[in-house]
Amino acid sequence: MRIELRSDTFTRPTPAMLNAIMQAEVGDDVFQEDPSVNRLEAMAARLFGKEAALYCPSGTMSNQIAIKVHTQPGDEVICEQQAHVYIYEGGGIAFNSGAQVKAIAGVNGRIKAEQVVTAINPDDVHKARTSLVCLENTSNRGGGSCYDWNDIVAISQVCTINRLKYHLDGARLFNALVATGQKPSDYGEVFDSISICLNKGLGCPMGSILVGSAAFIKQARRVRKVFGGGMRQAGFMAASGIYALENNIERLKEDHDHAKQIAAKLAGKDFVGEIMPVETNILIFGVKGRFTAASLADTLKHFDIHCMAISPTQIRMVTHLDVNDEMVDKLLSVIDGL
Ligand SMILES: *Cc1c(COP(=O)(O)O)cnc(C)c1O
Repeated sequence: MRIELRSDTFTRPTPAMLNAIMQAEVGDDVFQEDPSVNRLEAMAARLFGKEAALYCPSGTMSNQIAIKVHTQPGDEVICEQQAHVYIYEGGGIAFNSGAQVKAIAGVNGRIKAEQVVTAINPDDVHKARTSLVCLENTSNRGGGSCYDWNDIVAISQVCTINRLKYHLDGARLFNALVATGQKPSDYGEVFDSISICLNKGLGCPMGSILVGSAAFIKQARRVRKVFGGGMRQAGFMAASGIYALENNIERLKEDHDHAKQIAAKLAGKDFVGEIMPVETNILIFGVKGRFTAASLADTLKHFDIHCMAISPTQIRMVTHLDVNDEMVDKLLSVIDGL
């Protein structure tokens, strides 16, 4: 029994999702004639209370498209120093948009309105023009942490006053929504654009959805084509997205419960250091004494349990729909025996 905890991107489509894929009606989406893609985009736009949406091959592409549309070359983008858009997208902000980043040190991946205010450049020829603020919720490197809603609103007010665009990397936004009991439309109201990953805990083989105003999505569609992301019969994959939005959101709570159970078990062990607060499906903990992160990951591998050493002293485990109760029980007993 393989237990895959390296990432929630390892999920594979269930028989029911595969069936939805097989049944999909398709057309040419570059001509906007794929009924399944059109349906997914309409569904996502409605869910977030936005005018339009765009289906993209990956979360990286939907973030990068949003940044490209919201900025001009030479602009500055404000984000947290461990943000995915900054550290995990291959330098894409510079490569694709010719923009630079002002990275802010947050707490568990989260930044505050006062920090954003301080980071905005004055209108001065020496300075890059600040044009965009990107948040990430949940925060990946922050251990799946969720933003406090009041902080999101406070930053949106700073953006409005300073005429900055406001983008959310919501790769795992549904995890945050399930954890906090909020609605997608709450987020749609404050952000100019939101990117949602369908390929993580929602269980699709691929894909991401970008939501925004009609004018924004019109531009985004053009940029997606330029980036090489215009797909033809993408409806097969979009059908998995429709299935996920209809069936796989509420169950994210199980993943959160699993992550908390694992954290509780680790808490008693002598080789475990600091455990970051577990709010959703990501568990990051420190390793000390008898193990290094690499040697612990290696030991677990002998039990067919796969996790990731994200630093010499930290392990990350991510729960998802292919990690069931039985697997968690086995992991707990393996931890007990270490
Ligand atoms: C996974 C992820 C993305 C996008 O990833 P893709 O693999 O390109 O779909 C973006 N932001 C965060 C926070 C992520 O975890």
